[in-house]
Amino acid sequence: MSPAHSGDRGGLSRRSYLCAAGGSAVTVALGSAAAYRDRDADRDGDGIPDRTKRSDEFHRSLEATFGAAQFEGVEVGRSDLLIDVRYVGETSVASETKRTIVELFRQRDIHAQWLDHPQRYDADRIAREYGATVESLLWGGRSLYHEEVEAPLTDVALQLFVVPGATASPHEGRVYSRWMDTIGGGVDGYVNGFSVGNRAVVAGRDDRREEARLVLHELTHLALCHDDDPENTGVMGTGEQIDLLDHEWDRLRDGLSNVRDTTGAGVVFRPCLWDEQLGSVLDDGSD
Ligand SMILES: [Zn+2]
Repeated sequence: MSPAHSGDRGGLSRRSYLCAAGGSAVTVALGSAAAYRDRDADRDGDGIPDRTKRSDEFHRSLEATFGAAQFEGVEVGRSDLLIDVRYVGETSVASETKRTIVELFRQRDIHAQWLDHPQRYDADRIAREYGATVESLLWGGRSLYHEEVEAPLTDVALQLFVVPGATASPHEGRVYSRWMDTIGGGVDGYVNGFSVGNRAVVAGRDDRREEARLVLHELTHLALCHDDDPENTGVMGTGEQIDLLDHEWDRLRDGLSNVRDTTGAGVVFRPCLWDEQLGSVLDDGSD
């Protein structure tokens, strides 16, 4: 605010001052809204703004991080889904699983790209600096996600962390969530994987089928909830098939923009997380 506006209203009556101020405020607001809309225009609805898709700098930056062999670029008018995958300790995901997931998405007009992040996290350091719970990995101001994911990637890619999980029985291969424990989910709060907003974590799996099922399940939580319909044989239902139902694919494509964190709070909690707090789906620890 300029000094002229901060107190000295000159000879204007209060009414004429308010009219003048109101008029200019509206003009300014309209101007900002137009600029804002233009800046955030996202014609394909995948959460990656058109201006970002057109940016050479963005393309160069992702190519520098993930390599040209992995990053194919993004295109205006195409529903892109960038899956930024980060490994903790000795974990891995089989090439066959990566291919399966990418092909499933692409068959449904979602141009998924599996991007293995070049930096492997040392498991001891992560445990020491952040802890090993879902919460300490995925959210909160001092989480692994918050501290280690580069800012330009947080709003354009879905982050997937692959972790070793607990090493001792009976919770071997699962990740503890204090929150799930509190609401009675998982097995004593231990889950195979967890997804919140635009990020997810899975415990590594040796069994390829289980790996693909779990990874697809957590990735598609980006826009989908669980489905307790016994007829739902896909990964959000009974999990007999590594797939989604037709209407779920449609909903997922419509919800790709969830890759952007629009709350400003760091996390978008899916409404179904609350609805399902005590849901039977949670009882088996599949999250
Ligand atoms: Zn789930």
